[in-house]
Order: sequence, then C-alpha cells, then structure tokens
Amino acid sequence: MESIRCSNCNKLLFKVEFMAMHGRIEIKCGRCGLYNDVRSAEIQSKANRDATNEPG
Ligand SMILES: [Zn+2]
Repeated sequence: MESIRCSNCNKLLFKVEFMAMHGRIEIKCGRCGLYNDVRSAEIQSKANRDATNEPG
C-alpha cells in the first residue's frame, strides 16, 4: 500500500494499492484545504522504487 500525503502539509490523505488506481484522483486536504492532484503513474513509480529498495 502506498501512503498518499498532502504536498503542502504532509497530512496523510489516504492509502491505495497502486494496482487499484487508474487515472487521476483529486482530493482536498482536510487540514490545509489544498487540492492534491494524484496520478496513478506517480503511485506506480513510487511503488516500483520502494520495491527496488527491499532487501532480497
Ligand atoms: Zn494539507
């Protein structure tokens, strides 16, 4: 699961399995009110990067 955080205040917005999401999600941060534009490609690249850091 990937943790999606606000790009402004770093509040945790939601968690998503990268395979479960396609396209874009726009979510408003409950703390600072910023609209975060989340793209599935960003989650996928983040997941791939994390996977390469796993030992073994
Ligand atoms: Zn925020």
